[in-house]
Amino acid sequence: MDTVSTGDIEKLLRVNELYINFYTYEGVVKAIDGVSFDIHPNETFALVGETGCGKSVTARAILRLIPTPPGKIEGGEILFNGVDLLKIPEKEMLEYRGKKISMIFQEPMTSLNPVFTVGDQLVETIALNQKVSKEEAYNIALKMLERVRIPDAENAMTKYPHEFSGGQRQRIVIAMALSCNPSLLIADEPTTALDVTVQAQIINLMNELQKNMGTSILLITHDLGVVAEMSDRVAVMYAGNIVELGTTSVIFEKRYHPYTQGLFNAIPVFGKGKQTRLEEIPGSVPNLLYPPPGCRFHPRCPHVMDICRKEKPELIELEPGHYVRCHLYR
Ligand code: SF4
Repeated sequence: MDTVSTGDIEKLLRVNELYINFYTYEGVVKAIDGVSFDIHPNETFALVGETGCGKSVTARAILRLIPTPPGKIEGGEILFNGVDLLKIPEKEMLEYRGKKISMIFQEPMTSLNPVFTVGDQLVETIALNQKVSKEEAYNIALKMLERVRIPDAENAMTKYPHEFSGGQRQRIVIAMALSCNPSLLIADEPTTALDVTVQAQIINLMNELQKNMGTSILLITHDLGVVAEMSDRVAVMYAGNIVELGTTSVIFEKRYHPYTQGLFNAIPVFGKGKQTRLEEIPGSVPNLLYPPPGCRFHPRCPHVMDICRKEKPELIELEPGHYVRCHLYR
């Protein structure tokens, strides 16, 4: 069994051996194939990988937001402060969703309703989740908008989402997500829809809020630059498996798994000159209706061996806290 153990360190969230399938007309999509990781209090933990690797599905499973059918959580545990979120009744789940665990998405308009003012939406969310009066909720909302540096917050409360820029809308969504002081914020590609300068501002803001409010962050991204700027630890996902996990500094320095190496070779390095060609990972992400047997990366791996086509490698701890799933390191 693959278990990512972090010894005696206190855990806020523990995802243990999670399996998720999607039942479609074409067959069963084996989307998540035994994923395990922990998130500690006050840390930013990143799940990184190409589109379709299962990082967003894993994040949504934590809040039990997988549409069923077609999705089905086939096995595993999601322990939040020791409570298995997969076992509690839906009514109890409302105490976690949006209160103890919040989520922000890539496109802020997913979370904002275009026909209500920002103030109305913030006040309603806060009043509902914190059970405070409308007046108290208004004051909390105002403070949160100031905290995320929306200019003239009082006036901003009266405006509609379309009256703000993309970056400001994402700040408002962050204010809404953090207004109930959650222990865990799930940020699914929070900067992808923004241009680079605004991206940097949002990253700085999230880092600052994380430090000041003590919220842990589960960051979902395909962008290694964002991982470097924000996360303490990172798990690299490929085709529904975690293939490498460790502290961000160690993964950036050592990267043992051939897929992690491929990801890093595909990013431009400043100062390398115009002629340098970026290396791409050959082939494409497998169709998870028919995942490759053994190591799911084997059809694309430059180091593939016979055993890789037959046996799924275990996640092994190469050095304290650094895990790799690859037969090269048996
Ligand atoms: Fe490559 Fe084999 Fe390692 Fe998979 S297990 S990454 S195919 S060497």
